[in-house]
Amino acid sequence: MRGGQLAFPFFTSPGADPAPAARPEDLSVPAPAKPSKAAPSELRGTAPLPASGDALPPVRSLEELARIALACNGCRLRAGCRQVVFGEGNPQARLMFVGEGPGEQEDLQGRPFVGRAGQLLDRMIAAMGLARSDVYIANVVKCRPPNNRAPELDEADACWPFLRRQIELVDPRIIVCLGAVAARRLLGPGFGVTKSRGRFYERDGRLLTVTFHPAALLRFPAQKKLAWEDLKMVMRALEDLRSSPGA
Ligand code: SF4
Repeated sequence: MRGGQLAFPFFTSPGADPAPAARPEDLSVPAPAKPSKAAPSELRGTAPLPASGDALPPVRSLEELARIALACNGCRLRAGCRQVVFGEGNPQARLMFVGEGPGEQEDLQGRPFVGRAGQLLDRMIAAMGLARSDVYIANVVKCRPPNNRAPELDEADACWPFLRRQIELVDPRIIVCLGAVAARRLLGPGFGVTKSRGRFYERDGRLLTVTFHPAALLRFPAQKKLAWEDLKMVMRALEDLRSSPGA
């Protein structure tokens, strides 16, 4: 990580241009951010990630898992998209971002977060002093939902084995859920953005947290300040992990 007092390009950028519609739960006025000092004081709740109950064969690498995903027809989304967008990044990343699903540009290019929301995510990562290649980026569903609608529960269920295996294989220490769909998938149905952000939750020995989806930040740039508070909390936790032997 480069530097402690960092430029804040994703905050200073106007970013008020039209964006894919954010979900209602992303649009509400957030509660005041909980003051945060260090990761342990922000930790709430310990639990396992949801079980996948999947029938995936054992896989030992992301490449192997990607090959299986690219051939998947496990839900109706595959019929309406151009290609499966598996995910990408550092296969040994300490930090992982999980979004909702591919959009139009992602569907075209076969890569996650490459549209306008993705460009904002790149700026958010850069503001943390990291490069996109330092982190791993994935989505709850690997195929674009029609008209960028939110994935249905059964679609997210069908795709969960892939995301769960991605998490196991990358083995990140911290996962940032971008938006409510990712928060509900990884943390539970009662989680959202505004009520769940600003703290960590432990799942399978990892720290999970929630912040706004970049598409919501494009639509409501005033929330970038809160997102920056969330990312600073993540940066502190990464620093803590770096200074902890064996972490
Ligand atoms: S969204 Fe996931 S489960 Fe559905 S077809 Fe695509 S890869 Fe398979």
